[in-house]
This record gives sequence, C-alpha cells and structure tokens, in this order.
Amino acid sequence: MSYRRIALEEAFVTQDIADEWAKVLSHRNVEPGFRKMGESILAHTPGNQQLHNRLLDLGAGRLAHMDETGIDVQVLSLTSPGVQVFDAVTATRLAAESNEVLADAVRRHPTRFVGLAAVAPQYPAGAALEVERAAKRLGLSGLIINSHTMGEYLDDPKYWEILEAAEAADMPIYLHPREPAPSMVTPYLDYGLYFAGWGFAIECGLHAMRLIMSGVFDRFPRLRIILGHMGEGIPYWLKRIDNRYELQVKIGAVPKMARKPSEYFLEHFVVTTSGMTDPDILKLCLSQLGVERVLFAADYPYESIAEHVEFLDTAPVTEAERRAIYEDNACRVLKIAR
Ligand code: MN
Repeated sequence: MSYRRIALEEAFVTQDIADEWAKVLSHRNVEPGFRKMGESILAHTPGNQQLHNRLLDLGAGRLAHMDETGIDVQVLSLTSPGVQVFDAVTATRLAAESNEVLADAVRRHPTRFVGLAAVAPQYPAGAALEVERAAKRLGLSGLIINSHTMGEYLDDPKYWEILEAAEAADMPIYLHPREPAPSMVTPYLDYGLYFAGWGFAIECGLHAMRLIMSGVFDRFPRLRIILGHMGEGIPYWLKRIDNRYELQVKIGAVPKMARKPSEYFLEHFVVTTSGMTDPDILKLCLSQLGVERVLFAADYPYESIAEHVEFLDTAPVTEAERRAIYEDNACRVLKIAR
C-alpha cells in the first residue's frame, strides 16, 4: 500500500465535558434536541459504556483499534455538541482545556494524531483568541464547530470575528452536525428523526447553506469549511440550488451574489466520507465536486471503522483517486506532514 489512511472526523471527549453535559441535562430548560441526545447516545447506560470509554481514550486502546482497522492517522475532534451547550464562561474554559488535552495527545503521537481545536462561539472574542492559540501555540490543524450554538449560526455578524480568525490562521472549520436548533426541532423529536439518520444532515446542511447564501465568503475569501457525511446532502442538490437561486434573483426575491451558490461551494468546501459507505454517493460527490474535494473519514467510535475502510479500499475508483481521498487531500487541507 502506497498511501496512509487518514481519517478526518474521529471523536474524543474529556471527562470534564461529559460531566458538564450531565449537569446541563439535569436542568429543566435544556434545548429539546440536546435533551433527546441526553436520553440516547449521551446517556450513562451499560450499552453506551464502551462508546464512552473509547471517546475518553487518547492512548493505547485507540491506537490498537487504529492498528486493527488499518487507520494510520486520526484527525481528532471534540465530539458533538462539544462545549456549545454551556454558558459562555464554562464553554470558553472547557474548550481551552480540551484543546490542551488534544494538543498533548498529538505531541505524544505526532505520526498518528492530528487535532482540530474546539472553540466556544458563545464568547466570540475569546473563540477568536483560542483559534490563534490553537494554531500558533498548540500545533492544532483546524477547528471543530458542531453546527448551531444556542440556535444561532455562524453567518450572524456577531460570529464574524471567529471566521476572521480562522481565515487569518488558515484553519479550516469542520462544520460537524448536531441535532436541529430549537426553532425547528419540534417535528424532528418524533421517531428519532432529530438524530444522525436525518436531522443532523438537515441541520448542518442548513448551516452550510446559510454561510453560502449570506455572502460571508465574499467577506472572508480564504475561509475554508469541511463537511462530513459526503457534504450533508448539498452535492445532491447543487444544480437545483443554483437554478432556484437564479430564479429568485430574477424575480427580485434575493440579491445577486458575486458568484453562484455552487461556485462558493466548490471554492470553499471539501467533504468527507464519514458515516457514508455507498459507492454510488461517492461517485456523485466525485462527479459533482472533483476528487480533490473528497476526503476519507470514519467517525470513530460511532461507526464501524472496518466497514468504512472496506468501503474505500474496494470502491470503484482509480488507485490515484483512492490515494487522494485517503491521504493527499487531507495533507493539503490540514497541512499534514508527508
Ligand atoms: Mn461525527
């Protein structure tokens, strides 16, 4: 094998953050989507114990699992919803502390781990400083933001200083899903629809579309975004998004932007394969986006990593494409050493 398998959306948590989630979940006024998460995947049940242990482990157990499944490098990030459900002071502190833990793991295993720093959008000025610290002092390679923060999205001008800091530090933002925002979660609360099979992609895809349609990429022309799950549905819709945008411009319903929505998407976004092992969807992404915009991710410990590796090892692509998806694109996007 002439390439490394680099997996981009691999999760961890600290015990402090897990404890703080439990505290938030014990309050009566918790966001309805997060409450559902607290009743399912974040619940302290015997069934979740292995998941929880795997999230906490940034050492031997994780490395052994990587060796077993053929993952050479994990790009680590704080698992969803990270610190985004805490008050601003707690969130800012726990983001910084978890970034220290992450940076330490990367220092101990520099050939196996790469890190994406957590920030607390609740305190934008503090988040902007943390972006700079993560890039310059902690040796981290990008940022993780788990979609909405208290129902708000990054196109809101109050968050622009985070985008500005990310652009200045050349840190891509991995825009990771979470359950839909309080303003739209109600119909998702039935039948488990808030979760990763549907609601996560709707929420995160909406967030990405808000960034595109708000024009933030004209303001931050070097801002880069990574989307998981083969682009959260956007590659499927891309042509229609342009087509209906053009109609809306023609009838005066939305202002004309400098470029078409698809052009912003191709210029500013890359997508990963996390949670998606359908070769037809890979083919769709390759034809809509080009091989240079598709990266491998496995979503440890939530998915079967072996299945994800098997999927890309046997996907009907050329060896050069497989290498690009597994390694070359990740090295370019996150400046990972060769
Ligand atoms: Mn994930």
